Amino acid sequence: MSEPFDLLVRGGTVILPSGSVRADVACLGGKIVRIAPGIGEAAREEVDASGQHVIAGIIDSHVHFNEPGRTEWEGLETGSASLAAGGGTAFFDMPLNSLPPVTDAASLALKRAAAERSSRTDFALWGGLVPGNADQLGPMRDAGAIGFKAFMCSSGVDEFPAADAATLRAGMRRAASLGMIVAVHAEDEALARIRTAEQHVLGTDVRAWLRSRPVELELTAIRTATDIAGETGCALHIVHVSSPEGVALAREARGRGVDVTVETCPHYLLLNEDDVARIGPPAKCFPPLRSEALRLGLWRELEAGSIDTVGSDHSPAPPGMKRSADFFAIWGGISGCQHCFELLITEAVSRRPAEEALGRLSALLSANVARRFGIERAKGSLAEGMDADMAVIDLRGERALSNADLLYRHRQGPYDGRVSRARVARTIVRGRTAYAQGRVAHGAPCGQFIRPAQAQKPKAHPSHA
Ligand code: ZN
Repeated sequence: MSEPFDLLVRGGTVILPSGSVRADVACLGGKIVRIAPGIGEAAREEVDASGQHVIAGIIDSHVHFNEPGRTEWEGLETGSASLAAGGGTAFFDMPLNSLPPVTDAASLALKRAAAERSSRTDFALWGGLVPGNADQLGPMRDAGAIGFKAFMCSSGVDEFPAADAATLRAGMRRAASLGMIVAVHAEDEALARIRTAEQHVLGTDVRAWLRSRPVELELTAIRTATDIAGETGCALHIVHVSSPEGVALAREARGRGVDVTVETCPHYLLLNEDDVARIGPPAKCFPPLRSEALRLGLWRELEAGSIDTVGSDHSPAPPGMKRSADFFAIWGGISGCQHCFELLITEAVSRRPAEEALGRLSALLSANVARRFGIERAKGSLAEGMDADMAVIDLRGERALSNADLLYRHRQGPYDGRVSRARVARTIVRGRTAYAQGRVAHGAPCGQFIRPAQAQKPKAHPSHA
């Protein structure tokens, strides 16, 4: 007699890479072993998903959980629990805001150990590219870094300095030879200083601050980064692109043969600059939220397939850092990973039939992320043999989101009161429920470290020496 399944998710509409199907999903040993209608065999646990949709677990490739060192800002346990509540089954933690920042193999190992102790979801870790650490990229690759992140402007913390063009060039050359991706925060430092100086003398309010971070900062930086990526043959990922013009620049670079992908964040698709003025500090981020016209333009790029991935850029800070009479002095970062994906789904299903909308979103939130970062053999889609990572989404009924429900260490965020049609009913990580019906599952955290496959073998033929 065959072994019973560990888990059967019954009767949901399952969003597959090829389309959607009403089926059961059987899991054993942390893997999906069968997807088929009316599976007859027994399982130790059954979940009724009838009337609901089952999507691949969201892989949030952009979070700042700030542990070790600034755990009081968020931390891996509350951060990963919040992400699980939002449908996430894995995150890639950014190298900065934790202390020490991840700029060498030892600091990466330190963060990995902390996450293995307390993460509710699987995780990968970004290494940092900062001035003077190009020789550390190899050791970080060997330690399992998912890619290398650089800031083209001030990062907001002194210990993670901006990468100038020379640093980017040296880092990208090295990353290319290692077969690794470099991600950039694309805002030009020189222009940021000029615009900030111009505006800060005129005012300290939200509108003056918005004027200090115009789209030209982003466009200038994207031009620089794509040029250097083309010159060095490095794979480039531009994080949190906030404008359709930025997406278009990346598309043009791709047309010239540059290996570049584009991430945006739910907040650029859900909120605009009037919302920053209305909501205040919880909606302050870098780059800032844009005009309604640009928000809609970003949706057009997304619908046209010019955006590759969507990550939350969850970047919390203690309440004291989100308060000041001078809007310029307030910490820039939106806490979003718990509610942003439900709202993104809500917005997407208002534009297209549910199955089609979820199929398209699933590519952006899971499959494309997995493929770009070399983990697609285990993660990112629902198929037999893949890790049993999934989220059960309920689209029946509506509710107003409340900051009181947030699992973040600090219950602040820009979506309080916003109506969501999507509700994450359950999140399953490798066959184990991590979150269901408003609660994080009992039991010890069991997050596992994810390593990119391409890092195991150096690139066969680097396109440039
Ligand atoms: Zn970020």
